[in-house]
Amino acid sequence: MKILKRKTTNSVYLGESIKDGMCLICESKNVTSNKCLECGNTQIPVYGIQRKVINKNHILKLNFSLSCAQRQASNFLLNHYKNRKNAYLKAVCGSGKTEVTYETILYSLNRGEKPLIAIPRKEIVQELFQRLKSTFPSTIIKFLDGKNHDDEADLLISTVHQLINYKDEFDLIILDEADAFPYANNDYLKRLVSKSLKKDGIIIKMSATEKEYVDADTFTMNRRYHGYNLKMPIFYKMKPSKIISSNEFKEILSSNRKLIIYVSSINKAERLAEELNVNCCTSKNKNTSDIIKSFKSNKDKLLISTTILERGITIKNLDSMIYDASDRIFSHQTIIQICGRVGRSYDDPYGNIYIFYEKNSIKFNLVKDYINRMNRML
Ligand SMILES: [Zn+2]
Repeated sequence: MKILKRKTTNSVYLGESIKDGMCLICESKNVTSNKCLECGNTQIPVYGIQRKVINKNHILKLNFSLSCAQRQASNFLLNHYKNRKNAYLKAVCGSGKTEVTYETILYSLNRGEKPLIAIPRKEIVQELFQRLKSTFPSTIIKFLDGKNHDDEADLLISTVHQLINYKDEFDLIILDEADAFPYANNDYLKRLVSKSLKKDGIIIKMSATEKEYVDADTFTMNRRYHGYNLKMPIFYKMKPSKIISSNEFKEILSSNRKLIIYVSSINKAERLAEELNVNCCTSKNKNTSDIIKSFKSNKDKLLISTTILERGITIKNLDSMIYDASDRIFSHQTIIQICGRVGRSYDDPYGNIYIFYEKNSIKFNLVKDYINRMNRML
């Protein structure tokens, strides 16, 4: 139920807001006969209104897959929710714990329930709202920071302070940063969370540390389990049709590493290979696997390739370069695949990626956003 401090057409009268020594708005017992000393309520009459939720088919759209530990954590939360048990997720900052809650939110939405994500800090509410819009494309999501309304929302994202406006409302509350300021050690905010949760509602708390006493089953996500960050490419803008000189290649090519240079066409690959006197790998070669094998094992440090080698190869101490990244053949997905080629082994987790381009393009921003997002998830 949403608590209103003013009568509206379809609201019901709940009574005076300070009753039997307790404030009905924030549930504080720190009251006088006509004033709540915690939320400032001055015995105003209060009304309630039921928020309507329309049954519809909600979908989850993820353009990446969960890591192994994330999948386990996701199952842990969903199973607890299905069994009506509270749960606690402990995960280091940037480990992708938000993504782990999506399946549980989806399940709740599709049962016509009312889920909420509560975040103690205002700055994150809007950021998460932007992220979730594309994750739940058929869901009406609203965020509450004191200025917005919850009308017709299926899923709410809110600061904890805004929960003062609800009572017995939510079937599921996901509370992020449960261990941090200002939520931790704040009885007022804790009361707001528990009063806005339905009597049989479930709360999933998430935190980065173990400061707080935990009274629910806990799942811990360990960063080391996932590996290392993806390296952000280094972007170089070059003049149209400028050919990088052998000297510039040598500069990039450090002594103990190998480099694959990706180009947009077979023609360019052959031309460049001839000029630099190295092998090239294109769909014209029938023996690409032999070329790769010899590149791996011999002293050759440089190989030219078309996007034929975009995926599926793992070479130690490898750097990658995209020679003409402005070309349409290098979509942002292709560039991401090429970035994923480097730093694949435990003893060489950080390879370098160089991207040479003529014109700025939105696809480069998509690449950067993706890498940042993945690194936050790791
Ligand atoms: Zn109060």
